[in-house]
Amino acid sequence: MATYHIETYGCSSNRGESREIERALRDGGHRPADGPEDADVAILNTCTVVEKTERNMLRRAEELSDITAELVVTGCMALAQGEQFAEADVDAEILHWDEVPSYVLNGECPTVTPDAEPVLDGVVGILPIARGCMSNCSYCITKFATGRVDSPSIEENVEKARALVHAGAKEIRVTGQDTGVYGWDNGDRKLPELLDRICDIDGEFRVRLGMANPGGIHGIHEELAEVFAANEELYDFIHAPVQSGSDDVLEDMRRQHRVEKFREVVETFDDRLDHWTLSTDFIVGFPTETEADHDRSMDLLAEVRPEKINVTRFSKRPGTDAADMKGLGGTIKKERSKAMSELKMEVVGEAYESMVGETFEVLVVEEGTGDSVKCRDSAYRQIIVQNAADRGVEVGDFLTVEVTGHNTVYAFGDPVATDEATDPDAAERDALDGDSVDRDEGPESTVSSA
Ligand code: SF4
Repeated sequence: MATYHIETYGCSSNRGESREIERALRDGGHRPADGPEDADVAILNTCTVVEKTERNMLRRAEELSDITAELVVTGCMALAQGEQFAEADVDAEILHWDEVPSYVLNGECPTVTPDAEPVLDGVVGILPIARGCMSNCSYCITKFATGRVDSPSIEENVEKARALVHAGAKEIRVTGQDTGVYGWDNGDRKLPELLDRICDIDGEFRVRLGMANPGGIHGIHEELAEVFAANEELYDFIHAPVQSGSDDVLEDMRRQHRVEKFREVVETFDDRLDHWTLSTDFIVGFPTETEADHDRSMDLLAEVRPEKINVTRFSKRPGTDAADMKGLGGTIKKERSKAMSELKMEVVGEAYESMVGETFEVLVVEEGTGDSVKCRDSAYRQIIVQNAADRGVEVGDFLTVEVTGHNTVYAFGDPVATDEATDPDAAERDALDGDSVDRDEGPESTVSSA
């Protein structure tokens, strides 16, 4: 668990982004510090309206980098003029808002609190399926708080998922510290069966699988890929943090997988699914990481080309074994992190570029900044639709969009008319059919609103 300090400047949209970051950090088990001096990480969410504001942002970044353990700069100025911070010699990580939480989580799994209940947040239902993991990673402090995996039964989790759907969830996020080891405490890993059963629930919704370590899903990966191929409710998306391309480093990290197991998982999904998203994490600058180890990580990234990549500079967590290891000196971590971040931008940019001009079925998951909405396609890629109100697009809608452009973390799209939407008789038929829909009332909801 790390402590954080967030400072936000500028408009209400920026404040909204800070709230999102804070929510993700709290979900990950992190806590606010009393001030920047006490924080493990300070986050400066910048604005860049006028030149005077820019000067203030630079000055504040310089002050914070002197008094806090680690500084992350995000927001409009960071994205538009990020180089100014480097030119001013500010020691900070420059990140897009969406990248901040995973950077701060430092490669550790998110914390799932004991007895966590499902939560409905807009049309997103959060479903914690289990708490704890089966690993003992040498850099992880989360493990101290959560312990060994503790899995409720499949029936219990399916009932919670059903309650979420009945309460209005259009996207169910299956979460846990390590979803791949669900059921291991009761003798057998049961994630494929659980997902299959959740997808069987009546209703129109999507399911997103949360973080699953490569070591946890290796061994059930073929069965899991079959379940993904058979259920269109499941976003074709896996978040499997590899952390390093070097087996020596993985051993020192005490990860349960080696590079080959990770590759086998990826190859199996490549074989079974046409379009899917691999999300993975790399920790850069682990104390025992040599230059050759770093090159192996770069090679692995270039080889598997994940569509979503989190790069985290290693930082010591108190009480962990890795905290007692002699760290890398000088600017090595910073240089390796910069090199990997540049490669990441190239790989991710290529993935988004390939979407331009194509059409995708999406679910509108949440409101974005201004009058935009955030949508997800079947591979959980984020597509932003702007001027949503004018176009009659609302959260919870399923629609078709054509991708018109992209930046480094999402694509932009315009709604396109489908055959059904242009068929003048379709609305009338829908109205007539609506009365005959079989509505499964199900049990009372156990869902609380966020
Ligand atoms: S899998 Fe590793 S990083 Fe994740 S909670 Fe367990 S020990 Fe920590």
